[in-house]
Amino acid sequence: MRNFMQMIPGGVSAVVVLVLASMLLSIVPGRPQMWLYPLVRQAMQFKIDYQTRDMPAKETPHFIVKYTEADADMADMVAKAAEAAFEPVTGALNYAPGGKILVLIYPDRQSMKKAYGWAGDASAMGFYWGGVIQVLSPKAWMKNAQSAEEFITTGPIAHEYTHLVLDYMARGNYSRWFTEGLAQYMEYRINGYEWITAGNQLTGQLYTMAELTADFDELPNQALAYRQSLAAVRYIAEVYGDAKLGQVLNYLKAGVKMDKAIEKTLGLDIATFEALVNQWAKGTMKEYKQAAN
Ligand SMILES: [Zn+2]
Repeated sequence: MRNFMQMIPGGVSAVVVLVLASMLLSIVPGRPQMWLYPLVRQAMQFKIDYQTRDMPAKETPHFIVKYTEADADMADMVAKAAEAAFEPVTGALNYAPGGKILVLIYPDRQSMKKAYGWAGDASAMGFYWGGVIQVLSPKAWMKNAQSAEEFITTGPIAHEYTHLVLDYMARGNYSRWFTEGLAQYMEYRINGYEWITAGNQLTGQLYTMAELTADFDELPNQALAYRQSLAAVRYIAEVYGDAKLGQVLNYLKAGVKMDKAIEKTLGLDIATFEALVNQWAKGTMKEYKQAAN
Protein backbone atom coordinates (compact mmCIF):
# COMPACT_ATOMS: atom_id res chain seq x y z
CA MET A 1 0.00 0.00 0.00
CA ARG A 2 2.77 2.38 0.94
CA ASN A 3 4.64 1.87 -2.33
CA PHE A 4 1.50 2.46 -4.33
CA MET A 5 0.77 5.63 -2.41
CA GLN A 6 4.29 6.89 -2.94
CA MET A 7 3.78 6.77 -6.68
CA ILE A 8 1.02 9.37 -6.62
CA PRO A 9 0.87 12.76 -4.90
CA GLY A 10 -0.83 12.82 -1.48
CA GLY A 11 -3.66 15.04 -2.64
CA VAL A 12 -4.62 12.58 -5.34
CA SER A 13 -4.60 9.66 -2.91
CA ALA A 14 -7.07 11.53 -0.70
CA VAL A 15 -9.38 12.00 -3.67
CA VAL A 16 -9.04 8.36 -4.71
CA VAL A 17 -9.96 7.20 -1.20
CA LEU A 18 -12.92 9.59 -1.06
CA VAL A 19 -14.27 8.33 -4.38
CA LEU A 20 -13.84 4.70 -3.30
CA ALA A 21 -15.48 5.53 0.02
CA SER A 22 -18.51 7.15 -1.56
CA MET A 23 -18.89 4.12 -3.87
CA LEU A 24 -18.71 1.92 -0.80
CA LEU A 25 -21.35 4.04 0.98
CA SER A 26 -23.89 3.32 -1.71
CA ILE A 27 -23.68 -0.42 -0.98
CA VAL A 28 -23.02 -0.43 2.79
CA PRO A 29 -25.89 0.29 5.16
CA GLY A 30 -25.43 1.88 8.60
CA ARG A 31 -23.97 5.20 9.74
CA PRO A 32 -22.38 6.85 6.71
CA GLN A 33 -20.03 9.28 8.53
CA MET A 34 -18.56 6.56 10.71
CA TRP A 35 -17.77 4.38 7.69
CA LEU A 36 -16.22 7.21 5.79
CA TYR A 37 -14.27 8.75 8.66
CA PRO A 38 -11.43 6.19 9.04
CA LEU A 39 -10.91 6.17 5.27
CA VAL A 40 -10.50 9.94 5.12
CA ARG A 41 -8.15 9.84 8.11
CA GLN A 42 -6.09 7.11 6.46
CA ALA A 43 -5.83 9.20 3.30
CA MET A 44 -4.49 12.11 5.36
CA GLN A 45 -2.05 9.79 7.13
CA PHE A 46 -0.69 8.50 3.82
CA LYS A 47 -0.33 12.05 2.61
CA ILE A 48 1.61 13.15 5.69
CA ASP A 49 3.74 10.00 5.60
CA TYR A 50 4.54 10.67 1.95
CA GLN A 51 5.36 14.34 2.54
CA THR A 52 7.78 13.40 5.34
CA ARG A 53 9.33 10.36 3.62
CA ASP A 54 12.85 11.88 3.58
CA MET A 55 12.92 12.82 7.26
CA PRO A 56 15.00 10.73 9.66
CA ALA A 57 12.85 8.45 11.81
CA LYS A 58 13.10 6.60 15.09
CA GLU A 59 10.89 3.55 15.63
CA THR A 60 9.63 2.24 18.96
CA PRO A 61 7.16 -0.62 19.62
CA HIS A 62 4.11 1.66 19.09
CA PHE A 63 5.35 4.86 17.40
CA ILE A 64 7.46 6.22 14.55
CA VAL A 65 9.00 9.59 15.45
CA LYS A 66 10.06 11.74 12.48
CA TYR A 67 12.25 14.81 12.96
CA THR A 68 14.56 17.26 11.21
CA GLU A 69 18.36 17.15 11.67
CA ALA A 70 18.05 20.06 14.15
CA ASP A 71 16.17 17.73 16.49
CA ALA A 72 18.33 14.63 16.09
CA ASP A 73 19.13 14.88 19.81
CA MET A 74 15.42 15.22 20.76
CA ALA A 75 14.04 12.14 18.98
CA ASP A 76 14.89 9.70 21.79
CA MET A 77 13.19 11.84 24.41
CA VAL A 78 10.01 12.34 22.34
CA ALA A 79 9.92 8.60 21.59
CA LYS A 80 10.30 7.83 25.30
CA ALA A 81 7.43 10.20 26.16
CA ALA A 82 5.21 8.59 23.52
CA GLU A 83 5.87 5.10 24.88
CA ALA A 84 5.29 6.39 28.43
CA ALA A 85 1.83 7.63 27.37
CA PHE A 86 0.87 4.44 25.54
CA GLU A 87 -0.08 2.17 28.42
CA PRO A 88 -1.90 4.71 30.66
CA VAL A 89 -3.98 6.13 27.78
CA THR A 90 -4.87 2.89 26.01
CA GLY A 91 -5.54 1.28 29.40
CA ALA A 92 -7.90 4.05 30.53
CA LEU A 93 -9.75 4.19 27.20
CA ASN A 94 -9.62 0.41 26.81
CA TYR A 95 -8.62 0.78 23.18
CA ALA A 96 -5.29 0.58 21.33
CA PRO A 97 -4.99 1.76 17.73
CA GLY A 98 -3.52 -0.81 15.35
CA GLY A 99 -0.18 -0.16 13.63
CA LYS A 100 2.51 2.33 14.59
CA ILE A 101 1.46 5.92 15.20
CA LEU A 102 3.38 8.70 13.48
CA VAL A 103 4.76 11.51 15.68
CA LEU A 104 6.16 14.53 13.82
CA ILE A 105 8.55 16.98 15.49
CA TYR A 106 8.54 20.53 14.12
CA PRO A 107 11.80 22.42 14.76
CA ASP A 108 10.08 25.77 15.51
CA ARG A 109 6.69 27.44 15.92
CA GLN A 110 6.82 28.94 12.44
CA SER A 111 7.07 25.59 10.68
CA MET A 112 4.43 24.05 12.93
CA LYS A 113 1.96 26.85 12.22
CA LYS A 114 2.64 26.68 8.51
CA ALA A 115 2.00 22.96 8.33
CA TYR A 116 -1.32 22.11 6.69
CA GLY A 117 -2.56 25.67 7.12
CA TRP A 118 -2.98 25.13 10.82
CA ALA A 119 -3.97 28.35 12.57
CA GLY A 120 -4.25 27.22 16.16
CA ASP A 121 -3.07 28.80 19.38
CA ALA A 122 0.42 30.29 18.95
CA SER A 123 1.41 29.04 22.39
CA ALA A 124 0.43 25.40 21.75
CA MET A 125 3.17 22.80 22.04
CA GLY A 126 1.48 20.35 19.73
CA PHE A 127 -1.71 19.29 18.04
CA TYR A 128 -3.46 16.21 16.75
CA TRP A 129 -4.48 16.20 13.12
CA GLY A 130 -5.02 13.66 10.38
CA GLY A 131 -4.26 10.61 12.48
CA VAL A 132 -0.81 12.01 13.34
CA ILE A 133 0.61 13.51 16.56
CA GLN A 134 2.38 16.75 15.72
CA VAL A 135 4.62 18.37 18.32
CA LEU A 136 6.85 21.37 18.67
CA SER A 137 10.54 20.69 19.37
CA PRO A 138 11.22 20.72 23.13
CA LYS A 139 14.06 23.13 22.27
CA ALA A 140 11.48 25.74 21.28
CA TRP A 141 9.72 25.86 24.65
CA MET A 142 11.50 24.03 27.46
CA LYS A 143 13.97 25.74 29.78
CA ASN A 144 16.04 22.57 29.96
CA ALA A 145 15.39 20.85 26.65
CA GLN A 146 17.29 17.72 27.77
CA SER A 147 14.98 16.92 30.69
CA ALA A 148 12.98 13.84 29.66
CA GLU A 149 11.12 13.98 32.97
CA GLU A 150 9.94 17.55 32.31
CA PHE A 151 8.96 16.72 28.75
CA ILE A 152 6.95 13.67 29.80
CA THR A 153 5.10 15.48 32.62
CA THR A 154 4.52 18.92 31.07
CA GLY A 155 4.79 18.17 27.34
CA PRO A 156 1.93 17.62 24.90
CA ILE A 157 2.30 13.88 24.18
CA ALA A 158 -0.19 12.36 26.66
CA HIS A 159 -2.77 15.03 25.69
CA GLU A 160 -2.41 14.63 21.92
CA TYR A 161 -2.21 10.84 22.13
CA THR A 162 -5.53 10.82 24.01
CA HIS A 163 -7.11 12.85 21.16
CA LEU A 164 -5.74 10.27 18.74
CA VAL A 165 -6.98 7.18 20.58
CA LEU A 166 -10.48 8.66 21.02
CA ASP A 167 -10.53 9.63 17.35
CA TYR A 168 -9.61 6.09 16.24
CA MET A 169 -12.06 4.57 18.68
CA ALA A 170 -15.11 6.78 18.09
CA ARG A 171 -14.40 7.61 14.42
CA GLY A 172 -15.26 11.28 14.74
CA ASN A 173 -18.38 10.70 16.84
CA TYR A 174 -17.66 13.06 19.78
CA SER A 175 -17.87 16.75 20.70
CA ARG A 176 -14.86 19.07 20.73
CA TRP A 177 -15.39 19.76 24.45
CA PHE A 178 -15.38 16.03 25.19
CA THR A 179 -12.09 15.28 23.44
CA GLU A 180 -10.47 18.31 25.12
CA GLY A 181 -11.89 17.26 28.48
CA LEU A 182 -10.69 13.68 28.06
CA ALA A 183 -7.21 14.74 26.89
CA GLN A 184 -6.83 17.02 29.92
CA TYR A 185 -8.23 14.34 32.22
CA MET A 186 -5.50 11.95 31.08
CA GLU A 187 -2.82 14.63 31.60
CA TYR A 188 -4.26 15.26 35.05
CA ARG A 189 -4.38 11.58 35.94
CA ILE A 190 -1.03 10.57 34.48
CA ASN A 191 1.04 13.66 35.18
CA GLY A 192 -0.96 15.74 37.67
CA TYR A 193 -0.99 18.58 35.13
CA GLU A 194 -3.84 21.13 35.02
CA TRP A 195 -4.19 24.31 32.94
CA ILE A 196 -5.23 26.89 35.55
CA THR A 197 -5.22 30.63 34.84
CA ALA A 198 -6.60 33.75 36.53
CA GLY A 199 -9.22 33.84 33.77
CA ASN A 200 -10.56 30.29 33.94
CA GLN A 201 -11.99 30.12 37.45
CA LEU A 202 -15.06 27.95 37.73
CA THR A 203 -16.67 30.18 40.36
CA GLY A 204 -17.54 32.95 37.90
CA GLN A 205 -19.62 33.21 34.73
CA LEU A 206 -19.49 29.93 32.81
CA TYR A 207 -20.25 28.85 29.27
CA THR A 208 -23.36 26.75 28.77
CA MET A 209 -23.06 23.16 27.57
CA ALA A 210 -24.85 24.28 24.39
CA GLU A 211 -22.12 26.89 23.75
CA LEU A 212 -19.35 24.38 24.43
CA THR A 213 -20.99 21.92 22.07
CA ALA A 214 -21.82 24.27 19.20
CA ASP A 215 -18.96 26.76 19.20
CA PHE A 216 -16.01 25.45 21.18
CA ASP A 217 -13.24 26.93 19.02
CA GLU A 218 -14.96 30.30 18.65
CA LEU A 219 -15.45 30.93 22.38
CA PRO A 220 -13.32 33.95 23.36
CA ASN A 221 -12.15 32.55 26.71
CA GLN A 222 -10.49 29.33 25.53
CA ALA A 223 -8.87 28.69 28.92
CA LEU A 224 -12.35 28.62 30.49
CA ALA A 225 -13.81 26.41 27.74
CA TYR A 226 -10.96 23.94 28.32
CA ARG A 227 -11.35 24.10 32.11
CA GLN A 228 -15.09 23.41 31.92
CA SER A 229 -14.42 20.50 29.55
CA LEU A 230 -12.07 18.94 32.09
CA ALA A 231 -14.66 19.52 34.82
CA ALA A 232 -17.35 17.64 32.87
CA VAL A 233 -15.12 14.61 32.19
CA ARG A 234 -13.72 14.56 35.73
CA TYR A 235 -17.27 14.74 37.08
CA ILE A 236 -18.24 11.58 35.19
CA ALA A 237 -15.07 9.70 36.18
CA GLU A 238 -14.83 10.81 39.80
CA VAL A 239 -18.48 10.94 40.87
CA TYR A 240 -19.83 8.01 38.84
CA GLY A 241 -16.56 6.09 38.39
CA ASP A 242 -14.22 5.08 35.57
CA ALA A 243 -16.61 2.33 34.45
CA LYS A 244 -19.22 5.00 33.62
CA LEU A 245 -16.69 7.01 31.64
CA GLY A 246 -15.91 3.76 29.83
CA GLN A 247 -19.60 3.31 29.12
CA VAL A 248 -19.83 6.80 27.56
CA LEU A 249 -16.86 5.86 25.36
CA ASN A 250 -18.53 2.61 24.35
CA TYR A 251 -21.70 4.44 23.34
CA LEU A 252 -19.67 6.88 21.23
CA LYS A 253 -17.85 3.95 19.63
CA ALA A 254 -21.24 2.40 18.81
CA GLY A 255 -22.39 5.62 17.11
CA VAL A 256 -24.64 7.03 19.86
CA LYS A 257 -24.56 10.85 19.81
CA MET A 258 -22.64 12.69 22.55
CA ASP A 259 -25.62 14.01 24.56
CA LYS A 260 -27.45 10.69 24.37
CA ALA A 261 -24.31 8.77 25.39
CA ILE A 262 -24.12 10.84 28.60
CA GLU A 263 -27.89 10.69 29.22
CA LYS A 264 -28.04 6.91 28.80
CA THR A 265 -24.95 6.31 30.94
CA LEU A 266 -25.78 8.59 33.86
CA GLY A 267 -29.57 8.49 33.66
CA LEU A 268 -29.67 12.30 33.55
CA ASP A 269 -30.79 14.77 30.91
CA ILE A 270 -28.09 17.15 29.66
CA ALA A 271 -29.52 20.19 31.50
CA THR A 272 -29.30 18.33 34.83
CA PHE A 273 -25.82 17.04 33.96
CA GLU A 274 -24.69 20.60 33.23
CA ALA A 275 -26.07 21.95 36.53
CA LEU A 276 -24.49 19.12 38.54
CA VAL A 277 -21.08 19.48 36.84
CA ASN A 278 -20.99 23.22 37.54
CA GLN A 279 -22.00 22.77 41.15
CA TRP A 280 -19.46 19.97 41.70
CA ALA A 281 -16.63 21.81 39.94
CA LYS A 282 -17.05 24.92 42.10
CA GLY A 283 -16.42 23.04 45.30
CA THR A 284 -13.91 20.50 44.03
CA MET A 285 -11.61 21.79 41.32
CA LYS A 286 -8.50 23.77 42.11
CA GLU A 287 -8.78 27.49 41.44
CA TYR A 288 -6.12 30.00 40.43
CA LYS A 289 -5.54 31.52 43.89
CA GLN A 290 -5.12 28.15 45.55
CA ALA A 291 -2.78 27.05 42.79
CA ALA A 292 -0.59 30.13 43.25
CA ASN A 293 -0.15 29.54 47.00
ZN1 LIG B 1 -6.31 19.26 22.91
